[in-house]
Amino acid sequence: MLANIVEFFRNLPPKLCMKCGRKIEEQHDCYGNICYSCIGELWKH
Ligand SMILES: [Zn+2]
Repeated sequence: MLANIVEFFRNLPPKLCMKCGRKIEEQHDCYGNICYSCIGELWKH
């Protein structure tokens, strides 16, 4: 049963950064679909 849940998440398509199009690692959902480097760009301004 737990294995099915793991499989479910494994089969989800990777998130892509909406700014640069790179794949986003799955640690932060609060910023939406923006990768770390683009978040860094945002915070500079
Ligand atoms: Zn990006």
